[in-house]
Amino acid sequence: STSPVKVAVTGAAGQIGYSLLFRIASGSLFGADTPVELRLLEITPALKALEGVVMELDDCAFPTLAGVEIGDDPTKIFDGVNFALLVGARPRGPGMERGDLLEANGGIFAPQGKALNEVAADDIRVTVTGNPANTNALIAMSNAPDIPSERFSALTRLDHNRAISQLAAKTGAAVTDITHMTIWGNHSATQYPDLFHALVKGQNAAELINDEDWLANTYIPTVAKRGAAIIDARGASSAASAASATIDHARTWAQGTPEGDWVSMSVRSDGSYGVPEGLISSFPVTVENGDWSIVQGLDINEFSRTRIDASVKELGDERDAVKGLGLI
Ligand code: NDP
Repeated sequence: STSPVKVAVTGAAGQIGYSLLFRIASGSLFGADTPVELRLLEITPALKALEGVVMELDDCAFPTLAGVEIGDDPTKIFDGVNFALLVGARPRGPGMERGDLLEANGGIFAPQGKALNEVAADDIRVTVTGNPANTNALIAMSNAPDIPSERFSALTRLDHNRAISQLAAKTGAAVTDITHMTIWGNHSATQYPDLFHALVKGQNAAELINDEDWLANTYIPTVAKRGAAIIDARGASSAASAASATIDHARTWAQGTPEGDWVSMSVRSDGSYGVPEGLISSFPVTVENGDWSIVQGLDINEFSRTRIDASVKELGDERDAVKGLGLI
C-alpha cells in the first residue's frame, strides 16, 4: 500500500478549514487511492474547537484518511509534511492599518517559514490562502532559505474560478468551454482578470464580447469584489469557495495542468512580463511533474499593461513594508 501524503493545514478550526479538511480527507486532492494524513495547526485558544472538528472527521470514517494530528507548535505539526496549506492568518481588525496587518502576519508567517525550512519533507509544496496571501507567501519563502523558492505559492485560483464563472454567465457557455484564463498581480482589489487571452469554445473572449466598457466597468470589478458581494448576501465570507479553490490549486500542482491550457497561480517572479524578480505575483502557469512554469510570449496590450502594473506596484509596496519591518 502507498504511504500517506502528509498535508498540513493551518487555521484548521476556521471557516475555510471547516470546508477544506473534509474535502482533503475524502480524497479530493490526490484521489481515492492515495491515503492522506492531516497535520492541523491552530493557535492555542482554538485547539478545543479543532478537537471538535477532528471528532467530525472521525465520524465520517473516510477510507482515505490515514491519520490526524493537531497542535499549536509548527515544528511538530510540519514535521515531514509534503504539502502545507497556510490558511490561518490575522484578519484586518477595525482601525487596523495595513502596516499593523503586515506586521501581525509577519509574526505568523516568518516562524512558519522557519519551521517548514527545518522540518518539512524534501518535496514540500506550500500554498498560502490566508490574506494578504501574496505577501504572506513572500514572508514564509524568505524565512525558508533551504526550500527552493519555487515551492512557495499564493492562491489566486479563487479569482481565476470567479473569472471563469462570470465569463461563462456572460457568454452562455459552460465553464468547461472556457480555457486560458489568467489573473495577474495581487490577490486583492487590484487583481487583473485578463480576457485578451481567454478563450470561449476556442474563440478569443475579448473579441467575442467586443465591449471594453463592460470589461473595464462590469467584469473586472465584479470578479475583484466578489468576496464583498458574498459577505453582503450571506452575512459571512466566501469560505467554501475559498476552500474549493485551495483544493483546485494544490491538485493542479500535484497532478499538472491539462494539455493546451493553463491556470493562475501566484508564484515568485523571474522578471517575466515586467514583474520585478522576487515578487510573488499571479501569472498564467502550466504545471508538469509537480513543477510550474510561467507561460511565456503572451502579448500584453495597453489596457492590460496599465492594470498589471498597478497591481504589481501594490505588491512592491507590500514587499517594501515588510522589508521595513525586518520580516524578509
Ligand atoms: P477563514 O477560515 O474564513 O479565513 C482564513 C484566512 O483566509 C483569512 O486570512 C482570510 O482572509 C483568507 N481568505 C482568503 N480567501 C478568502 C475568501 N475567499 N473568503 C474568506 N477568507 C479568505 O477565517 P476564520 O477566522 O474563520 O479562521 C481563521 C483561523 O485561523 C482561526 O481558527 C484562527 O485561530 C486561525 N489562525 C491560526 C494560526 C496558526 O495556525 N498559527 C495563525 C492565525 C490564525 P480575510 O481575512 O481577508 O478574509
